[in-house]
Amino acid sequence: MSPVRVIGGGLAGSEAAWQIASAGVPVILHEMRPVQPTAVHRTDRLAELVCSNSFRGDKLDNAVGLLKEEMRRLGSLVMAVADTVRVPAGAALAVDRDLFSAEITRRLEAHPLVTIVRGEVTDIPDDGIVIVATGPLTSDRLSEAIARFVGREHLAFFDAISPIVLAESIDMSRVFRASRWNRHSPASTGEGSADTGDYLNCPLTREQYDAFYDALMTAERATLHDFDQVKFFEGCLPIEVMAKRGRDTLRFGPMKPTGLVDPRTGRWPYAVVQLRQDNLAGDHYSLVGFQTQLKWGEQARVLRLIPGLEQAEFVRYGMIHRNTYINAPTVLKPTWQTRTRPTLLFAGQVSGVEGYVESAASGLVAGMNAARLAAGLEPLLLPRTTAIGALGYYVSHADPKHYDPTNITFGIMAPLTDAPRGRRDRQLLISRRALAALDDWKRRTAVVASPG
Ligand SMILES: Cc1cc2nc3c(=O)[nH]c(=O)nc-3n(C[C@H](O)[C@H](O)[C@H](O)COP(=O)(O)OP(=O)(O)OC[C@H]3O[C@@H](n4cnc5c(N)ncnc54)[C@H](O)[C@@H]3O)c2cc1C
Repeated sequence: MSPVRVIGGGLAGSEAAWQIASAGVPVILHEMRPVQPTAVHRTDRLAELVCSNSFRGDKLDNAVGLLKEEMRRLGSLVMAVADTVRVPAGAALAVDRDLFSAEITRRLEAHPLVTIVRGEVTDIPDDGIVIVATGPLTSDRLSEAIARFVGREHLAFFDAISPIVLAESIDMSRVFRASRWNRHSPASTGEGSADTGDYLNCPLTREQYDAFYDALMTAERATLHDFDQVKFFEGCLPIEVMAKRGRDTLRFGPMKPTGLVDPRTGRWPYAVVQLRQDNLAGDHYSLVGFQTQLKWGEQARVLRLIPGLEQAEFVRYGMIHRNTYINAPTVLKPTWQTRTRPTLLFAGQVSGVEGYVESAASGLVAGMNAARLAAGLEPLLLPRTTAIGALGYYVSHADPKHYDPTNITFGIMAPLTDAPRGRRDRQLLISRRALAALDDWKRRTAVVASPG
C-alpha cells in the first residue's frame, strides 16, 4: 500500500499521522523544522506548542472540554499524551510543553508505520493521498502552491480578529438595536417593530468615551513576534493604533455614531460601539471593527468600560497575527477532503480552524479519513451533534463571504430542541447528547480507537 503523505508535523499533522498509522496504513510525515525554521517555533520537535501551554477548559460544561473528551474516545494521540503530562491548571488542561512535544515525537518516531522526513515541502504532491497540515506559518513556497490550488482570493495570510462576547452577558437595558441610517437587512431582528436593526449599539457619552479612550491609551499590548511587525492594512488597524492618531479618530472610525438614533434620547450618541451577531444561534456578538493586540486581561478591563459590556464574558479575545488559512467553505467538505480533489485533505489551522485542540481534532478526522481512502473505503462523517462533527460542518458550510477561523463553541453546534433555561444545564445537556451520539456512531461504524 502506498504511504499517505502528511505535510506539517504540528498538532494537526502529528495527530493525523498517528491515526493513519494506527489504522495500519504507512505514512510519511514531512516536517520542515529544523532544516527550515518558522518565526515562532523554537525546537525541532513535533507538535510544539508555540505559545500558551494550555489546552483550555477540560469540563463538559465547556465546548472545548467536550471536544477533548470526544477526541479521547476516538483514540487521540494528542489527548493521550496531554493527559500524561498535565500540570495543575484548575478546570483547564495545561501541559508541560517540553514533555508534551518530546513524547509525541518519541511515539511517532517509534511507530513502525511512520516515516518522518525533515525538510520543506514546496508544492502539493500531484498524486497519492495527501494531508496539508502546515499551520498558520505555512512556508512561503507552499503557501504559493496552496494559493494556486484554492485560488489566490481563497487564501488569507493575516488575521485581524475582533473580540466576541456572549449575548447573555450583554446588559440589554443599556444598549439599543438599530442599523445605521435604518438600512437593515430583511432578516433583521424585530423587523417591522420599533426595535428593528442588525446591530446592538452601545452608546457612550462624552465622559464615558474619554474614560474609555484614556484606558485604551495606557493599556498593555501583547508581545509582538517578528512576523507581526507588518504594515497593517488601513481597513483593519488595531483600535489602539487608531487611537494613537488622535482622541477623536475612533469616533470617525469604528465608534462612529452617525445615523444611529438612540431611542431613549432621540439623538445620535457621542460615540457608539456596534455589536454584530456572530453565529446563527444568536448567542455570540462580535465588536465591529475592534481588532486589537491588547493583552487579553487588558482587553477585558478596557472593553468592560463600554456601556452594556460591564459584565461581558468573552468567547474570544481580539488579536492580529500571521495566519495562513484557506477559505474553508469554498474548498472543503465536512470530511476535510477538498471538493475538487478528494484525495487531498487539509487539517489544522491552515484548514480554517483556530486553536491547538481544534487543530488536533481536525487532524484526527482527516487522518482517519485518509487511512480509509488508502484502504479503498468511504470517508466517514461524524454526527453534527458532536463537537468534532460540528467543527467539520462549520468549516464546510459557514458563509464564505465572512469566513473566520473558529474555536469550537456551543454556538456552532446543533441547538437543543427542548433547552433548559440555565446556561450550564444547557451546555451539559449538549455535551451528554454529543457523547451519546459519538458512542452510537462508533458502534454503527465499528470505529475502534487505538490507544494513543
Ligand atoms: C504566534 C502564535 C501564537 C499562538 N498561540 C496559541 C495559543 O496560545 N493557543 C492555541 O490554542 N493556539 C495558538 N495559536 C494557534 C496555533 O498555531 C494553533 O492552535 C496550532 O499550532 C495549529 O496547529 P497546526 O498543526 O495547524 O499548526 P502548527 O502546530 O504550526 O504545525 C504546522 C507545522 O508545519 C510545519 N510546516 C510549515 N510549512 C511547511 C512546509 N512547507 N513543509 C513542511 N513542514 C511545514 C511547521 O514547521 C509546523 O511544525 C497561535 C498561533 C500563533 C501564530
